[in-house]
Amino acid sequence: MKLHEYQAKALLRQAGLPVPRGEVVFTAEEVPAALVKMGTNSGVAKAQAYTGGRGKAGGIKLYKSADEALTYSKQLIGMTLVTKQTGPDGVKIEAVLLEEASVIKRELYVAVTLDRARANIVLILSPEGGMDIEEVADKTPERIKKLYPAWGRNIDASMAAEGAKFLGLEGEQAKSFADILEKLYRLYQAKDCSLLEINPLVVNDKGGLSLLDCKFDIDDNAAYRQKDTGGDENAGKDPSEVEAAKYGLSYIKLDGDIGCMVNGAGLAMATMDTIAHFGATPANFLDVGGSASEEAVTKAFEIITSDKNVKAILVNIFGGIMPCDRIARGVVGAVKSTGLKVPLVVRLEGTNVKEGKEVIETSGLALTSATDLEDGARKVAELVKGMK
Ligand code: GDP
Ligand code: MN
Repeated sequence: MKLHEYQAKALLRQAGLPVPRGEVVFTAEEVPAALVKMGTNSGVAKAQAYTGGRGKAGGIKLYKSADEALTYSKQLIGMTLVTKQTGPDGVKIEAVLLEEASVIKRELYVAVTLDRARANIVLILSPEGGMDIEEVADKTPERIKKLYPAWGRNIDASMAAEGAKFLGLEGEQAKSFADILEKLYRLYQAKDCSLLEINPLVVNDKGGLSLLDCKFDIDDNAAYRQKDTGGDENAGKDPSEVEAAKYGLSYIKLDGDIGCMVNGAGLAMATMDTIAHFGATPANFLDVGGSASEEAVTKAFEIITSDKNVKAILVNIFGGIMPCDRIARGVVGAVKSTGLKVPLVVRLEGTNVKEGKEVIETSGLALTSATDLEDGARKVAELVKGMK
């Protein structure tokens, strides 16, 4: 679940972190009132989007008057911002954050995230703020420092001092850096984050520190208890994945051409592996689950066939809790209602397999049946190869 910069900054501010004053606007009409509220007519207009690199893409504009603020806001709202992360389709801008301008002396980088290998939260620091951190890690890894605070404790003073020194901060700046680091570390945990990244953390002309940009990602597993952050659970997901989730289906779109409908995540993985073994590539991962309704199976089928890359489909069901005949009825029903334009291979085994096969055989549809997973994967791979 991702948060927009303006939502993230509201949380940072609440946590007592130094964030520039700002107002979000969704229409140009709101700009004059926002400027009055901020008490200044100069600042930065920032396009709100779940992507970095907005600066380079023209999504961040410095304005010097109320007229300019209005002009830029009009420009930004409704524009399509294209960055390295969004890809060529870009992302439509629906909100602009107007913020008091900062005079920047230095740009630093601070992030809190999880190091899975170490099973520990990691603090990532760099004096090269404002840049693409992956690039820094690639070209000048010595300009990045990782610190590992002990679980369940505050960040100790010596660790904060080590970080400040690495960033070239001394005296009062080192003190406020320690305070910022501690607050970010707590906020990361309180909000179930997977990433809390400040890039840049700036040293301004008055010598103070200020958090100028923020990426705030919350672990999807905790989305249910972080709803009031305003985050978007579907940010960055393929629309078909969002649709699938509504029906309790675990669907992940891939870039191959064989659609897969399987029950059980393990069997779905094995099915994809076996397809790959026969030299073909799966178009998706799909686990219909152990207790999917006929309606969900129909939906699954619709989602698979709506993928333009799909040239053939393999249904691989091991009936357990989910009996074969229910899947079979779902498949037949879906084929009849959506119309099947690609070959379909079906392998059924387990609970009610006899009834399931009967449903398929008496359906009058041109389906290929397979005896086992290997047979099914081979048949579907050969069908697709024959088309090339
Ligand atoms: P991003 O490009 O999406 O990461 O957006 P940021 O908010 O990080 O802004 C990109 C860059 O714009 C920053 O690294 C700064 O160099 C610059 N910038 C952003 N806000 C201000 C500001 O208030 N004053 C000045 N002078 N530059 C700013
Ligand atoms: Mn940034």
